[in-house]
Amino acid sequence: MFPVIQPLPDSYRQRGQRRALVTLLRQQRGIRDERVLAAIGAVPRHLFFEPAFEAHAYQDKAFPIGEGQTISQPSTVAYQTQLLNVQAGQRILEIGTGSGYQFAVLCQLTANVQSIEFNAVLYERGRQRLAFLGLPTAGLHLGDGSLGLPALAPFDGILVTAGPGAAARATAPATHWGRLVVPVGSHDPGQQQLLRITREGPEAFVREELGDCRFVPLRGAAGWQ
Ligand code: SAM
Repeated sequence: MFPVIQPLPDSYRQRGQRRALVTLLRQQRGIRDERVLAAIGAVPRHLFFEPAFEAHAYQDKAFPIGEGQTISQPSTVAYQTQLLNVQAGQRILEIGTGSGYQFAVLCQLTANVQSIEFNAVLYERGRQRLAFLGLPTAGLHLGDGSLGLPALAPFDGILVTAGPGAAARATAPATHWGRLVVPVGSHDPGQQQLLRITREGPEAFVREELGDCRFVPLRGAAGWQ
């Protein structure tokens, strides 16, 4: 039913580190959704790293992935995924594929995940990595996701992994989503807020501000130039 990650070159030590990471997320980072914790426990984060950083893959930290971009820290991935409240069968869009790690986590929760990446080098690296894991690379797209992915809209949820500045100018017309999880604000330290906007009717939205965060800039037509 769901895409299954292939048997992996995954050492005993790495499996232990992954279990410890899940325990940290559950006990110290407030992640309560057991499906999200199981997804984090299933995805070998070290395979999304540059070899130079691989030994650090199970720390709760962001790391460079090349092209001036980062893989988000696991607690951020887990928190954003929990906020998105993905149910099996729902249609999900991630904006900012980066390493592909968040995409792989989302694929553990529903079979219908799309992800769009602006940077061609990262797109290709992510595609190869996800193919190696046996995940559905047909869901990967190269392009400007700052206006969403209109050709495949609507989505039950959109998760944005780069900061567009203001929510109003961000990520897809409101008719294209049911839930939007997005970091907004300037890129000065401490100046971004994580938002969840939930559509409750044709013109009815609930907006929740969920604390400070720090993401790289969203580029493109509706992002930062
Ligand atoms: N989700 C990623 C992961 O799991 O590794 C981390 C994403 S990184 C923090 C943000 C990504 O957003 C970068 O790869 C960047 O190139 C991408 N990005 C920036 N602007 C974009 C745009 N307009 N459309 C699509 N991707 C964009």
